[in-house]
Amino acid sequence: MMGGELAHEYMYLTPIGEDTLLLCDGCGYSANRQIATFAKQANPAEAPAAPEKVATPNTTTIKALTALLNIPAHKTAKALFVMATVGSGQDKKDVFVLAVVRGDMEVNETKLANAVGALEMWPARDEEIRSVGAEPGYGSPIGVEGALVVVDDSVASSPNLVAGANEPGYHLKHVNHGRDYTADVIADIATARQGDGCLTCGAALRESRGVEVGNIFQLGTKFTEALGGDFLDAAGKAQPVVMGSYGIGVGRLLACIAEEYHDEHGLIWPVAVAPYQVHIVLLAKGTGAAQEAGEQLYADLGQRGLEVLLDDRRENPGVKFNDADLIGIPLRVTVGDRGLKRGIVEVKLRCEKERRETPVEQAVEYVVEQVEKLQRELDERVVKVEYKG
Ligand SMILES: [Zn+2]
Repeated sequence: MMGGELAHEYMYLTPIGEDTLLLCDGCGYSANRQIATFAKQANPAEAPAAPEKVATPNTTTIKALTALLNIPAHKTAKALFVMATVGSGQDKKDVFVLAVVRGDMEVNETKLANAVGALEMWPARDEEIRSVGAEPGYGSPIGVEGALVVVDDSVASSPNLVAGANEPGYHLKHVNHGRDYTADVIADIATARQGDGCLTCGAALRESRGVEVGNIFQLGTKFTEALGGDFLDAAGKAQPVVMGSYGIGVGRLLACIAEEYHDEHGLIWPVAVAPYQVHIVLLAKGTGAAQEAGEQLYADLGQRGLEVLLDDRRENPGVKFNDADLIGIPLRVTVGDRGLKRGIVEVKLRCEKERRETPVEQAVEYVVEQVEKLQRELDERVVKVEYKG
C-alpha cells in the first residue's frame, strides 16, 4: 500500500484483530488474506460442449443456481462488476471491470485491484452494468463490450461452466473461456479460506485474526525517482536513493499488550514497557514513620535507576490497592505503620497472588533484584523473527 514491490507485516494473533491471516502449519507459510495464495482444486478435463441457454427465473445467486440445476458450485462462474481508476497523471481514467471467479470461490478485491493496477475501486451501478451489455444477477463476460474482463485462473482452466446469459432469467450451460469469451487479464483473484490447500506444501490452511503491529516496506527507488532524491556515487554519477520503510505501531502495540496482559482487576504491564517499574503504596496517616520510610524508599529506588510511582494520596487502603491493580505496575511495595512496627514492608508482583515481606533495610536490594528477574524472564521469552526479504 505504501508502494514498492514487497511488504512484510508483523502480526499479533488475536480473535479481535482486524486482519485475517492464512497460516500453514505444514511449511510455515503465512500471509494476509488480501494476498494469500492457495491451491485451487482443478475441475476435471472435459471436451467443450455446445452452449445451451436455460431458463433460471429468480436465480440471481450461486446458491439458488446450484439448487435449481442440481450442480456443484465449482461448475459455475460468477461475475463481479466494479468501476476502477487506473493509470497515472494525464492517462488516469475510470474503467469498467468485469471480474469472474468460479462459483465456489469469492473475488479478492486486493488481488483484483493489483491485477488491473487500480488506484481505487468501487461497485458498479446497475445502469453501468447494463451499459456494457451485462445484466445484474445474470452477468458474465459473454457478449460484453467496453469492459476490462479479469478472469480467475481457475475459471480459465475449467471447462463447461454455467454462467449468466446477460439476460434476465437466463443462464448459459457449457461456457468455455477462449471459445465463448476471452479475458483481458487472467490472474489469481480468488480469496483463500480456511481449509484451502497450501500452494507450497498442500496442507490445509488455517485462518486466524491478527493486528498488524509492525511492517517493513521495500520501497526501492519509487519515491526517490519521482522526487529526485539522488546521491552521487563513487564515480560522481547521480543515483536514486534506495528506500525502506520500517514501522512500529506504538499505539497498536500498547493495545495488544493490554489485550495479552490483564486480568479482571486491570492491566499487568510487562516490566519492559511498564510506565513505572515500582508502585509504592503508602498506608500512612499524616506525616508519621510510614510517610518518611516510603519517601526514603522512593528516593533510594530512584537512585538505583528504577522508575517509581509513589501513591501518597489520603485514600483508604482498599482504594489504593484497587488502583494499583488497575494501573498494573509490575511490582507493588506497601509501606504501612503496622508493617514498619515489625520492621518490614510488603512486596507483591502484579502477576502473582503471593505477598512477600522483606525487612525495611533490605527492601531496596530485594526490589532491584525482583525487577531484574522480571526483565530476565521477559528476555528469555523473546522470539527472534528472521526477516525473509
Ligand atoms: Zn504449506
